Amino acid sequence: MNMPVVAAVGLGGNVGDSARVLQEAFDALAGLPRTRLRGVSALYRTPAWGMEDQADFINAAAALETRLDAGALLCHLFAIERRFGRVRAADGSDRWGPRTLDLDILLYGDAVLDVPGLRVPHPRLHERAFALVPLLEVIPEAVIPGVGAARDALAGLDTTGVEKLGRARA
Ligand code: ADP
Ligand code: MG
Repeated sequence: MNMPVVAAVGLGGNVGDSARVLQEAFDALAGLPRTRLRGVSALYRTPAWGMEDQADFINAAAALETRLDAGALLCHLFAIERRFGRVRAADGSDRWGPRTLDLDILLYGDAVLDVPGLRVPHPRLHERAFALVPLLEVIPEAVIPGVGAARDALAGLDTTGVEKLGRARA
């Protein structure tokens, strides 16, 4: 029996009613097997990143306590993404494009993982204010293994444009 691990999941979307999609995604996370939803952040509106000619993103984070290993958790996150209609281009060309729902494992306890298809902590977490701001709301003391305190990573970033929307249901 795995010991429970506190994992942080980043949520994002910019197609359709993203605020509603993210609320429903919180519910889906709460329903994962061997997992308890410990907290959810507010929703944040952030300008699109990467390809800039598209709708703003809505981002959020959730803290989970899970007995799923990181690979199993990622498979469940992909299944939730598919349920909300995200379709990945086979060639990866949609990587920075519009998406209904994007779910990333930001942190998995203090684990450092680098296997095909799964890197934890998320390799770009420390440089993304739109991920760090909601993360710190759910785990204020979050530490990014190999980087340091998430709060310190955020202190070096520009947070203009990361705008808090209404508070999400717990
Ligand atoms: P991004 O999340 O970087 O915007 P994608 O959601 O398209 O981009 O993810 C691309 C790939 O990243 C996925 O196929 C997934 O296997 C891989 N990946 C690696 N590490 C992680 C992680 N920690 N969380 C989610 N996906 C990850
Ligand atoms: Mg992703």
